[in-house]
Amino acid sequence: MEPNYRRCLSCRQVGPKKQFWRIVRLFPSGQVQLDEGMGRSAYICPNPNCLSTAQKKNRLGRALRASVPEALYQTLWQRLASSNEIQKTN
Ligand SMILES: [Zn+2]
Repeated sequence: MEPNYRRCLSCRQVGPKKQFWRIVRLFPSGQVQLDEGMGRSAYICPNPNCLSTAQKKNRLGRALRASVPEALYQTLWQRLASSNEIQKTN
């Protein structure tokens, strides 16, 4: 895999890092958050299929070896909804 390429934990598609959402389990607190921070990270495509697979099968929790708060998934669903609205207006 090339540097700065990452793999989606749901569909296993590989692509440039910036095309994915990044979820991080912070070191040393173990708190799980989006986008920024030092620690163990997982990547996922910003689409409904990959998000729902990650949620239903707990792919994210397994990848990070942490429990992922429901609120984090909610934030991602909201991001999807708002990005769809942007596309509609274009
Ligand atoms: Zn994916």
